[in-house]
Amino acid sequence: MTTQVKARPKPQLAKKAERPDLFDLIIVGGGPAGMTAALYACRSRLKVLMIEKMILGGQATTTFFIENYPGFPEGISGMDLGNRMQDQVRRLGLDIVWGNATSLENKKDHREITVDNKIFNAKSVIIATGTEAARLGVPGEEDLRGRGVSYCATCDGPFYKDKNIMVVGGGNSAIEEALFLTRYAKKISVVHRRDELRADKILGERALADPKIYFFWHSVVEAIKGDKTVSEVVLKDKNSNKKLKVPVDGVFIYIGSKPNSELVKGAVKLDKNGFIVTDNEMKTSIPGIFAAGDVRAKSLRQIVTAAADGAIAAEAARKSIEQGPKKKRNKYK
Ligand code: NAP
Repeated sequence: MTTQVKARPKPQLAKKAERPDLFDLIIVGGGPAGMTAALYACRSRLKVLMIEKMILGGQATTTFFIENYPGFPEGISGMDLGNRMQDQVRRLGLDIVWGNATSLENKKDHREITVDNKIFNAKSVIIATGTEAARLGVPGEEDLRGRGVSYCATCDGPFYKDKNIMVVGGGNSAIEEALFLTRYAKKISVVHRRDELRADKILGERALADPKIYFFWHSVVEAIKGDKTVSEVVLKDKNSNKKLKVPVDGVFIYIGSKPNSELVKGAVKLDKNGFIVTDNEMKTSIPGIFAAGDVRAKSLRQIVTAAADGAIAAEAARKSIEQGPKKKRNKYK
């Protein structure tokens, strides 16, 4: 006869209660990177909160016409694309808080974000705060901002019907917006500091062929002048050092962008220009904090790469949430 020994029930470990105020993931920024991150995170059934200070869609909404986002053979306006992305995440029930995220604290097992004096907690955070227009830093630029100095052709272009305007810069933004402005302005002078455009060849070819667009090569803006509104721009030819006064009604400045990385300055590793350094999984130097989109140090800033970053960051965040907090910092510190 065998004696049956009843197995003792295993002691049940008390499950740590989830804090009801703790999100799995907070996404700061509602541009294409943030919205794609939200799309993936919501579909993974994470408890997600998005923080956005202005409008969903980000800088892309100020682009009149996007013709290099796949799936839209006829092109699509930035506003339409932003609205479509927004509809997609709203259908998944994304929670959105409108306000400015002013601080991010990395606590022992969660992150704490302050938005206009209110605190939100999450296991992980994705920073998708994008960039803002760089300034020339010349006399008159700040004073005449909104009175002839603009950083948004889509917003301000219609005010310049049959006027003479100037576009500063030689990148994709400058050339794309100069082309857009031809529908309003009489004449557009593009000022570029070199004698070769940085913009994609297809855009450069269109601009060079456009009868309304003129170029000031190897030239820089020295000052923007005007009484109530812009009336003149002083240029310097870099080869001859000669100065030239050009009468214009408006100046559109597109000389690149600077990252909106203030929130994590001093916390995560930034490159020399202030962009957030990440690995291929969008992990920053601090576990639980990820970055996606234009705010990240990378070579190609496009809507399509922002969206890809967002998807990767959400997936990496999901994995890190499932694994739980780790003590070790990753190698990108
Ligand atoms: P960008 O590609 O960095 O070009 C900035 C332009 O401004 C360059 O031509 C640069 O001259 C010039 N510049 C910079 N600082 C200057 C200064 N202080 N004074 C005078 N000129 C100055 O910036 P972006 O055009 O805003 O584009 C940002 C990113 O978005 C890029 O990756 C771009 O490809 C992307 N983007 C893509 C599209 C599209 O694919 N449809 C549209 C818009 C933007 P140098 O050339 O001499 O450096």
